[in-house]
Amino acid sequence: MARIKSILTEAKQIDRAVTLIQLGARLQVLESETDLSYERLLRLYKEVAGKSPSKGQLPFSTDWFMTWQPNIHSSLFLNIHEYLNKASELDEIDAVIKAYQLYQEQIQAQGLEPMLSVTRAWRLVKFVDNGMLTMTPCSKCGGHFVTHPHEIARHFVCGLCNPPARAGKGKQAGSLQIPAHAH
Ligand SMILES: [Zn+2]
Repeated sequence: MARIKSILTEAKQIDRAVTLIQLGARLQVLESETDLSYERLLRLYKEVAGKSPSKGQLPFSTDWFMTWQPNIHSSLFLNIHEYLNKASELDEIDAVIKAYQLYQEQIQAQGLEPMLSVTRAWRLVKFVDNGMLTMTPCSKCGGHFVTHPHEIARHFVCGLCNPPARAGKGKQAGSLQIPAHAH
């Protein structure tokens, strides 16, 4: 039985790794989220992606998530992620995968390009887990947006309600909607 269990566990891990590669995840995400060996992951990556993984550091800064359009995309993803976490008992990485797939679907349904990569989505969840980022409700629309911790909710206005002057009226992230949470 133990043998069968370990085969099942391995199959599940390979399945996760393949899904993450298909979504465009960096190799570091796979290393962190599976117990498969580096060599194994590297082979799998080349097989599925048809190329070698890109080298270099993962983005470690929270700054990107604070810029206008990325913030709206990140907030959309994180709202979906929080909802899934409350509504189901998915393993942490499966919640990231599922939320990312739903984020992609919503973005593409509006004819937009996903701006948030799965690697950044994964980092975002880590940043929220360790308290470097959080969500704050907008004082105008009530939608929850990614912010630094200790943002004063009474004064916070999101990037949809207060887009930068240069934003114009094009079909950009400004046409996305972040649902206000029911309390
Ligand atoms: Zn708002």
